[in-house]
Amino acid sequence: MTFRKPGLVAATAVVLALTATACGGGASGSDDEKINIGIKFDQPGLGLKTQDGEYTGFDVDVAKYVAKELGYDEKDITWKQAPSAERENMIANGDVKFIAATYTINDERKERVDFAGPYFLAHQDFLVRAEDDSAWNKDELNTKELKLCSVVGSTSAQNANKKFAPKANLIEYGGYSECLTGLENEAVDALTTDDSILAGYAAQKEHQGKFKLAGLSLSDEPYGIGLKKGDTELRKKINDALKKMVDEGAWEEAAKKHFGPANYEYEPAPEITETN
Ligand code: GLU
Repeated sequence: MTFRKPGLVAATAVVLALTATACGGGASGSDDEKINIGIKFDQPGLGLKTQDGEYTGFDVDVAKYVAKELGYDEKDITWKQAPSAERENMIANGDVKFIAATYTINDERKERVDFAGPYFLAHQDFLVRAEDDSAWNKDELNTKELKLCSVVGSTSAQNANKKFAPKANLIEYGGYSECLTGLENEAVDALTTDDSILAGYAAQKEHQGKFKLAGLSLSDEPYGIGLKKGDTELRKKINDALKKMVDEGAWEEAAKKHFGPANYEYEPAPEITETN
């Protein structure tokens, strides 16, 4: 903890206040305003930081579209990695303006953050080894001595623990990509999370022919844009942006571009319901 002289704090506050007035919150399209946006960095097709330091994926395109509608240029975006377990904290602390990171809308999360959307609907599934010929069946998951891998703070881990595989041995890592080595070398039987994410891993060049989806459709995972609780004005603006993205065809274009290569059959854009 650092202590500052009161005079310095007061002077800083004045400068900040002046800067805030001059920039007008970014809604005017001013190009000197910056925005922090939370995405995933290790989920191909959704949110990926490439080796060249580029950011790509469906969530990235949705976030860029929304930012543009809020008045921010692409060059003014700072991308922040938003691990599943950190999302509510990052929003509540003001580290990011919003998060677009395969972020399922649910009541527990709504106690700490608000959501706009949904803008996408995924379903929980299993990623297994390509040569695995077990008959993966929703109703029998509990009867098997399963070793599963998922991510801390995700609905995927929670669903597995509480709903469909409470007896399974579940390893929880910080990110899904960390489960892939364990799956490949048979330390675990399956990686479980949204089918949208799993399809991206299966299609990655370095994984081709190694993994497949079991096709279980274990849950509905409606993705929302997470934002500060109580900011109804921002939520309305984001919902308007999402509607426009769908109406203009930019949603379909982004979905085709990012899910097409993985042969992932995505659901159509869902109805926006997070309005109050
Ligand atoms: N959509 C699920 C969730 O929000 C799983 C994917 C993720 O962890 O981001 O928890």
